[in-house]
Amino acid sequence: ETIPDNLDATVARWPDREALVDVSRGIRWTYTEFAEQVDRLARALLASGVAVGDRVGIWAPNVAEWTVTQFATAKIGAILVTINPAYRTHEVAYVLEQAGISLLLGVESFKTSAYADMVEEVRGDCPDLRDAVYFGTQRWEELLASADRVSPDQVREIQAGLSPTDAINIQYTSGTTGFPKGATLSHRNILGNGYLVGEICRYTEEDRVCIPVPFYHCFGMVMGNLACTSHGATMVIPAPGFDPAATLSAVQTERCTSLYGVPTMFIAEWSLPDLEDYDLSTVRTGIMAGSPCPASMMTKLIDSGITEMTICYGMTETSPVSTQTRTDDSFERKVGTVGRVCPHLEIKVVDPVSGETLPRGEAGEFCTKGYSVMLGYWNQPDKTAEVLRDGWMHTGDLAVMHEDGYVEITGRIKDLVIRGGENIYPREIEEFLYTHPDILDAQVVGVPDPRYGEELCAWIRMRPGAEPLTAETLRTYATGRLAHYKIPRYVRIVEEFPMTVTGKVRKVEMRRTSVVELG
Ligand code: ATP
Ligand code: MG
Repeated sequence: ETIPDNLDATVARWPDREALVDVSRGIRWTYTEFAEQVDRLARALLASGVAVGDRVGIWAPNVAEWTVTQFATAKIGAILVTINPAYRTHEVAYVLEQAGISLLLGVESFKTSAYADMVEEVRGDCPDLRDAVYFGTQRWEELLASADRVSPDQVREIQAGLSPTDAINIQYTSGTTGFPKGATLSHRNILGNGYLVGEICRYTEEDRVCIPVPFYHCFGMVMGNLACTSHGATMVIPAPGFDPAATLSAVQTERCTSLYGVPTMFIAEWSLPDLEDYDLSTVRTGIMAGSPCPASMMTKLIDSGITEMTICYGMTETSPVSTQTRTDDSFERKVGTVGRVCPHLEIKVVDPVSGETLPRGEAGEFCTKGYSVMLGYWNQPDKTAEVLRDGWMHTGDLAVMHEDGYVEITGRIKDLVIRGGENIYPREIEEFLYTHPDILDAQVVGVPDPRYGEELCAWIRMRPGAEPLTAETLRTYATGRLAHYKIPRYVRIVEEFPMTVTGKVRKVEMRRTSVVELG
């Protein structure tokens, strides 16, 4: 099934159910109304010359038009290239050029980001870019009006010719570990994943899913939008950029049944001083994913009554989810693992050097195979060949699979710290630091050391009003609780961590900063 065929089926089944609410802008569409928006934009894109396989870029935070664009491009077989709203000229020029984007849609500006100005600045370097049109402008209205020049039959004919294995989406990876790569995904990749994640969350047309995570990333557009549309559920957009208070108030006013976030978003929401004042009693389930999910945060969510909260693990290259906890898992499995393999996929843990499959219980590289694995990196066959071998996606993540098939992610191969020959998983130290009552959030990186090869440096955010920790006070706290070689030698107290817009901590940058500071 293709994405537009799936949407048609949903519209036929639940025409009057709410499809989308853009809370901060007061937009509210039923599935029938949403489909009308999608059809009109699809025809308008055809009228403006977009053909099957053309790359259409979208550069905007979470707004209703984003979702309309997602489905309109899929309907006419154009490949949507989703661009990170945090990008600046250097990065956007790279993506425009690398993906060969001919038409760019988006917002003119948002907060301090002047998107239209940045596009003008780089336009000369992007020969494929024919036009850029911004939502809500005169030119946007003109574009939509041109839909009249194309008949619904023309769209129907194109839609009928699409195949589930066609490329439909290019998403650049978060760039946590290096320069972003354009994962090319098909209808089957992302629709299959969105649908199956929705199955695990037990979505029905009654569900209302609060999506504060960015649409430009799979978490928003697949686990959010596609999971909703394939089950007739409602997509609730709390605000264009992440705002913890706006998110919880959207949950309350829209009576959401599901809440999404990367760990830092939940941490921000659950440390709001007026948390108790929000009525979150409608929330049944949700997803935490994207980076290591602290057991303490997961416990808080369950204690708050979100008993069916789940954790997903995945990556852009696998559409994204490979493992997920189940709503009826035991408490231990729910808070302490990333779940077990998702339906219709295979997973294995291999020795990163020899490639041999490891017995359960041993740490190695996590690999996955099946319908969710990307077609490849856009125009980068060498990079594709490095990670895709015999259909297996080699994730670069370290994992342990327990006897019962539940998986723990122990870190990234690139983040592993080797101190005096001992392998140290920063994740383990971070979990330990969370047990300190004055620590709000903590991250651990390795920094070069002439004696041990590497030493640990802990970046710590203190709770408001708490006495800042020092390397000495941390040592006192950790001694007797943690092996001596795992106690961070350096401590750095900060207000914020350097983050990607998806809310991931940029360890590469932290490592660089620490190295510079320590000389
Ligand atoms: P890049 O590949 O450009 O360096 P990235 O890997 O952060 O960036 P994404 O595809 O957005 O880009 O993120 C996938 C990665 O996020 C996974 O490979 C994994 O390291 C991490 N991740 C996702 N979910 C979890 C989770 N539940 N627990 C631990 N890590 C997770
Ligand atoms: Mg990656």
